[in-house]
Amino acid sequence: TSNRNDRDKEVNVQVMVRCRPLSDEEQRTNVQSVIFCNEQRKEVTFLQSVAGRQLDKSFTFDKVFGPKAQQRSIYEHAISPIVNDALEGFNCTVFAYGQTGTGKTHTMEGDIRSKSGELSADAGIIPRAVRQIFDTLDAQKADYSMKVTFLELYNEEIFDLLTPEDCSRSMDDKQRRPISLMEDGKGGAVIRGLEEVVVYSASEIYSLLEQGSARRRTGETLLNKQSSRSHSLFSITVHVKEAAIGNEELIKCGRLNLVDLAGSENISRSGARESRAREAGELNKSLLTLGRVITALVEHSGHVPYRDSKLTRFLRDSLGGKAKTCIISTISPSSHCLEETLNTLDYAYRAK
Ligand code: ADP
Ligand code: MG
Repeated sequence: TSNRNDRDKEVNVQVMVRCRPLSDEEQRTNVQSVIFCNEQRKEVTFLQSVAGRQLDKSFTFDKVFGPKAQQRSIYEHAISPIVNDALEGFNCTVFAYGQTGTGKTHTMEGDIRSKSGELSADAGIIPRAVRQIFDTLDAQKADYSMKVTFLELYNEEIFDLLTPEDCSRSMDDKQRRPISLMEDGKGGAVIRGLEEVVVYSASEIYSLLEQGSARRRTGETLLNKQSSRSHSLFSITVHVKEAAIGNEELIKCGRLNLVDLAGSENISRSGARESRAREAGELNKSLLTLGRVITALVEHSGHVPYRDSKLTRFLRDSLGGKAKTCIISTISPSSHCLEETLNTLDYAYRAK
């Protein structure tokens, strides 16, 4: 029943929440779980008792996954349709957003090793998306080409996770040379010198992923475990040749971006209050700007501040317009994380 105006204004942003289980350590030390997820009602509830009265608070999202949700079920219910959209020629992005330790990397990557091409039960969104893309194209007997990029954004500097290099050498500052983002003259941005690897099989992508992730971890060690402040961005671009009309060949081009964001505590209110962090420029500009961009898109508030950060400049073609965006907010059920969990849900809720 939506009229044309509504449809023009439609924004393709979906927001989901995934709550991890209490860890073994948390269970052993009797940490209280204060989150209840109702998957049917798509509702997350904080169990809060104040002076003996139960004052629970609930938030509704597009989808909610509780602590028992399996990797496969999340993929099939929430992500698989987006990957199909990418194959139909749309630009699609999936973000994992949340406090460090809540399962962003588990959700995006999980177990990326594959034995003889089989996915493990713990495989996350990236390996499953790769599998689906190849299975779909092969089933269609499509004529296609595909390339991938994998980069890390740290302190507004871009590092390529796929540059070919001598793996026997340890990674030093020289090998972690940042690369620069340039305007492409069409309103978008390109990263000069970013390795775009042409790939022909899922297993090739799996090894690139393993290499890139290992490199990200090495980088983290060099940077004194400030890993929680870096974003990683894996992109797959697919060109599919369609039946030719007359002399013209039609090519469908879609891109899928899979983004493991920096820990959300980097922009939390408690973090912002610390002037020391602010002076040191430690607030994560890309994370803050992403929130503002999404808010501007869903509120149709005119100016969308894409240009304010590297992440949003790079993803400009994939945010807003016809592009599809999915945010998975990961949270912990622990009472110790309550304040950060509220911050995360607040950020996510504003994106709805
Ligand atoms: P983040 O990337 O947000 O910092 P991780 O993905 O590294 O968090 O997760 C922290 C720990 O919790 C890891 O040991 C991970 O395996 C575990 N974990 C996270 N989410 C889940 C989940 N849904 N089920 C089981 N273990 C999980
Ligand atoms: Mg992580």
